[in-house]
Amino acid sequence: MSATAPSSVRQFSVPQERRLVTELPGPRSRALQERRVQSVSRGAGTLANIYMDHGAGAILVDVDGNQLIDLGCGIGVTTVGHADPAVAEAVSEQVRKLTHTLFTVTPYENYVKVAEKLAQITPGDFEKHSVLVNSGAEAVENAAKIARRFTGRRAIVVLDHAFHGRTNMTMAMTYRPWPEREGMGPFPGEIYSVPISYPFRDGLSGEEAAERTIDYIETHVGPRDVAAFFAEPIQGDGGIIIPAPGYFQRIVEYCRENGIVFVADEIQAGIARTGAWYSIEHHDAVPDLVTTAKGIAGGLPLAAVTGRAEIMDAVQPGGVGGTFGGNPVSTAAALAVLDLVEREDLIGEAKRVERALVERIGGWVDKYDIVGDVRGKGAMFGVELVQPGTKKPNPKALKHVISTAVANGVIALDAGSWDSVLRLLPSVLISEALIDDAASVLEQAIESAPSGDDAEEPPTPQS
Ligand SMILES: *Cc1c(COP(=O)(O)O)cnc(C)c1O
Repeated sequence: MSATAPSSVRQFSVPQERRLVTELPGPRSRALQERRVQSVSRGAGTLANIYMDHGAGAILVDVDGNQLIDLGCGIGVTTVGHADPAVAEAVSEQVRKLTHTLFTVTPYENYVKVAEKLAQITPGDFEKHSVLVNSGAEAVENAAKIARRFTGRRAIVVLDHAFHGRTNMTMAMTYRPWPEREGMGPFPGEIYSVPISYPFRDGLSGEEAAERTIDYIETHVGPRDVAAFFAEPIQGDGGIIIPAPGYFQRIVEYCRENGIVFVADEIQAGIARTGAWYSIEHHDAVPDLVTTAKGIAGGLPLAAVTGRAEIMDAVQPGGVGGTFGGNPVSTAAALAVLDLVEREDLIGEAKRVERALVERIGGWVDKYDIVGDVRGKGAMFGVELVQPGTKKPNPKALKHVISTAVANGVIALDAGSWDSVLRLLPSVLISEALIDDAASVLEQAIESAPSGDDAEEPPTPQS
């Protein structure tokens, strides 16, 4: 594979095609599922009980030998494709050399290299420092700690429809109660959810929506008590909500005026996924801190908080960290991924995926009365399903679309506070042919979906 190989001539160890040899789930998956319910907590819910064996590029191969098109990437993680050979090589080399010392006991170069790289690729022309941790939620929680330490303030502002994680702090920062939060409080105080810009639903300009957000802070919280404003520049679990142009520019300006640390949670949208290193670049705004996780290490657990050196260094030594954070193997994987993004122009590949998706599914709003909106950037798209002729969410249709797609060998995700947004997060290396095939499967599922005129059912604990 040459450095400039277009995706059409890339070589993968599994042919990039959907191929079903059993019904889905197949007999081996069903046998594993029987064992699973005897030993695995029901709380670790699953979208599709199809057990995977291996993968390459945008294809997953299950234990029965079926080849499925993966439009989910394990929620936007395997952006560079499944089991990328360069990542596998970096991991296996490192795992034979050194697996752990704990950076805060005796350090190693990989950690420093990842921090150097993050300083380069995150937005902002100023000195930046990083801390590495294990998970997205841990990064968000650390960013909140750091912002509070730096400002000496208490309040944390988050946006409506946000998803920030499942620890106690980040559950409280997450918008919807079900299924992430219900029955699991009490939660920490001083977290305020404020209105977002949601163009499909509020019809406001970025400027108008920002004034609404700011007014809410002024009247409910008080800007001088706010330590940090957290925002996903493109919301993931919230339903691929892209605030209107100008929204984040005004919000960041307001944060600067009021000494509030602006944190871009780029855990889902960062690292090339949206056709930029970070999705805040589409909004022409510069955050003070950035959280990175999902796509950074090809599936190995790694997350980071990166930002202005003076904010990051406000914390006393020992105030952030953790046993496994930034371990040698995960950082080796991250260095391979970051190298691939540059060497193989994966930002350009994400833009190619965007063009192909717009061409293939952009017309669905006109074609299908249950499709209210199609929106996205790069390889991060949402299809918002509604009841015909309205903007009322249609979660029943989404459930049907996803289960029908899965049964036909296409893994697609759900999203949205009303469980009504079909979420597509394919690898940026997915071919046009696979996009076309997956879109045909999704179209058949949409055509047979209930229009959902009857009363809405409460969402079920599916994922
Ligand atoms: C997934 C996600 C998180 C939480 O990350 P985990 O690794 O699951 O803890 C936080 N923020 C955003 C935007 C995410 O998509």
